[in-house]
Amino acid sequence: MDISQNYKNNLSFNIQKNLKIISDNANKFGFNVYLIGGVVRDLILNKKIMDVDILCDFDATILAKKLEEEGICKIQELKEEFKTVKIVINDMCFDVASTRCEVYPKSGCLPQIVKFGVSLFEDSKRRDFTINTLILSLNKDNFLQIIDPTNQGLYDLKNKTLRILHHKSFIDDPTRILRMLKFMFRFNFKPDICTFNLMNDYLKKNNYDICYSRIKSEFIQTFNLNKSEILDYFIKNNIYKLFIKNINKNISSINTQNIIQKYESQIKQIYLVYLGIMVENKDYQNLSFNFTTYEKKTFNDIIKISENSTDIDDDYQIYQLFKNKNIESLIVYYLKTTDNNVIKYLDKLKDIKLNITGKDLIRLGIKEGKVFKTILDKVLKIKLLTPNMKKEDELQIVTNLLAKKKF
Ligand code: ATP
Ligand code: MG
Repeated sequence: MDISQNYKNNLSFNIQKNLKIISDNANKFGFNVYLIGGVVRDLILNKKIMDVDILCDFDATILAKKLEEEGICKIQELKEEFKTVKIVINDMCFDVASTRCEVYPKSGCLPQIVKFGVSLFEDSKRRDFTINTLILSLNKDNFLQIIDPTNQGLYDLKNKTLRILHHKSFIDDPTRILRMLKFMFRFNFKPDICTFNLMNDYLKKNNYDICYSRIKSEFIQTFNLNKSEILDYFIKNNIYKLFIKNINKNISSINTQNIIQKYESQIKQIYLVYLGIMVENKDYQNLSFNFTTYEKKTFNDIIKISENSTDIDDDYQIYQLFKNKNIESLIVYYLKTTDNNVIKYLDKLKDIKLNITGKDLIRLGIKEGKVFKTILDKVLKIKLLTPNMKKEDELQIVTNLLAKKKF
């Protein structure tokens, strides 16, 4: 990989302009500011930039307040406790943090901040991998020059290596194991041997002290990449142990990736398919994740489908089984059972809808009540066999039913 001056061109003119405004004023007030972490890594790797993190060598909240007083930015969010601030300048949003030192009084829990306004080198020690410690100066004297506080970051970036900064890194924060997985497969990087061994050692434990919300967030980002290799690595290297007790290892990762690709435009949450196939249906309740309503419904839909999937022999029953279920639940059920009714439903039946509604039945003189559902279901049954039916045809069926009093 060629680490050239090219990275500067990857910063759009507008971002550069706003960064210059921030840094000129920061320097004027006696602060130094830098780009830090993911943004620097992604600029050098020529990847799309997700978020622009700025590091201030003193107190970012004081800097932001001064910038706001001068009418240069608007403060969107300010956390005094962490001395972090979100500022908006010319409609562009930047996160600004203060350099800090942290300790982990208890493994897996959030760290405690010991000191703010420390050196760039001290600040780099709290980070996860050497490639995420890289810095771009925004200051007058060396605008957009790379600073490599560990002297290892650029080397590792060139050699596609993920290297933690100290031996206790995974013990302090096991989310870093999932972050490692994310970066491995997002960038095609590998952990260095020591990092790999430390991960293995950590995963030999039986109980983990973990901040599940952070694990969940990294799990989502990692599995949303939809790569079969991620699932294989996750299982083979026991990373699942961090939060899943009984994993279903009987999974074809390639089939999973392929089927997700096929229905990608319909699937809202790719990671949910991966999570769904890894845990036994009812076991999801034992995961320590704080599930959203959509996630809970998906797992409950999988259970419902599994419980009602026997003795299905016509399209109407297939339609009833799968309708109103979250798409992820259908995909998980399919991957666990290879029941082709799912594919039939998704490819042929799902979009068949009646043109007539209750209003049409009222117009035909039918009194509102339970009978509505009976009639509409009968019409639907016929329509599933002849999907091209027009509204007139549907009305004709209702009229016939009325004549024969068949409901
Ligand atoms: P992404 O591109 O997925 O956002 P990122 O590296 O930018 O990845 P962020 O979560 O945006 O990750 O965090 C920004 C920076 O904060 C990282 O580059 C890293 O230096 C540091 N960081 C984030 N999470 C951790 C962690 N769990 N442990 C140590 N440092 C972390
Ligand atoms: Mg980021």
